[in-house]
Amino acid sequence: EDLAALQNPAEDPHLRRGPRGFPLLPGGYGRSTYYTGAPSPYAIKGEGYKVWDDRGRELIDANNNFTSLIHGNAHPEITEAATKALTTGASWGIPNLYEWELAELLLGRLPELDQVRFANSGTEAVMSAIRIARASTGRERVIVTKGGYHGTSEVALVPGGPSYQRGVTRGVIDDVTAVPLNDIEFLRQAVEAAPDAYAAIILDLLPNRAGLLTITKEFVRTARELATRYGIVLIIDEVISLRLGYNGFSGEYGVSPDLLTTGKLIGGGFPVGAVCGKAELMAEVDPTRPGSLPHGGTFSGNPVSMAAGSVALRLYTDDEVKRLNQLGDNARETVNSRVVDAGWEIRGSGSLLRAVPAGAEKVDEHTQHKLWWASYERGLLGSPANLLSLSTPMDEKVVDDIADRLADAVLAVAL
Ligand code: PLP
Repeated sequence: EDLAALQNPAEDPHLRRGPRGFPLLPGGYGRSTYYTGAPSPYAIKGEGYKVWDDRGRELIDANNNFTSLIHGNAHPEITEAATKALTTGASWGIPNLYEWELAELLLGRLPELDQVRFANSGTEAVMSAIRIARASTGRERVIVTKGGYHGTSEVALVPGGPSYQRGVTRGVIDDVTAVPLNDIEFLRQAVEAAPDAYAAIILDLLPNRAGLLTITKEFVRTARELATRYGIVLIIDEVISLRLGYNGFSGEYGVSPDLLTTGKLIGGGFPVGAVCGKAELMAEVDPTRPGSLPHGGTFSGNPVSMAAGSVALRLYTDDEVKRLNQLGDNARETVNSRVVDAGWEIRGSGSLLRAVPAGAEKVDEHTQHKLWWASYERGLLGSPANLLSLSTPMDEKVVDDIADRLADAVLAVAL
């Protein structure tokens, strides 16, 4: 009954105006740096792998709040843990024991890293990791990969190119070197031209903004070697990719970073970010040490995110990691076989998938929007960039269904 009422709102939310006549939300949309190209539907309910919107649709949720809902919507055990934490006080101004629990679970999966500091988003985690790297090395420059996305802090916006750099100072832009993905020689030359200038190399092993092209092992190993040789901090940004291996995607690569940033799934669907790292570096944010960096936040390490995240990690066992990855591999195979003749391909790894025109490094916005709406009309909800992620409530049948709907959507766009 409630659902029916919400699905037929008396007023189109896009028409709501403030006293001076403006829509209350610019463009009516604030969920992502990407837009879907036309007025968005609004979500009103989620359960398991399903989401219902205000236009009367029931959708398979393969957006999963930008991959963070590893166990789908309103998972009973996560909801119970979050509710329990909430009923004893949403947050306090001194540390809480839930932080220790999540720290133990997270670091238990990252055996080469010693300590963690929680934040409220992946953006914050990356921002802090860069500052830790700069403080510990006494250097300023940062290497990123071209087109990589690491959130919306100023340094992180630079690799997105001119449109992302608006509002960022020249000084910040000049501090960042963007290396083409997998171009080992470029990377080597950039570092060796000024090895004492670089504080950090930051890598996302499966960069969605670069069309979900995988970084080669050779490129990552070269980054590791150069970082070690020249005293540069290697940051691996696993805000999205942590889900791809029990020990993160870097574990699958067999490469250990000095700092690892993460977020999304480790909050069980609540706001979170984390910088994990070697003790020597994490000493920079140890408040018992004189001159430590100011790091913290009103909601950092809040009990609700910590409690929900602990259950989420506990439930995401090695078996579940493998099961979801296998389902993703199967879906990729099915969809690829159906769309290859239409000049499209499905990229990604394990439980992260994305359909792109074959060979494309950057997908134009128009195509991106068309595919999003074609998927939506077939009851499949992806991210605005059409990144699809699987969640543990999904079984083989559901993932087959996702593959069918996605292939249909791609063919509709490709024709
Ligand atoms: N780093 C990577 C690799 C991401 O994919 C994202 C978000 O999608 C971020 C950082 C930023 O995280 P958040 O959106 O939680 O700020």
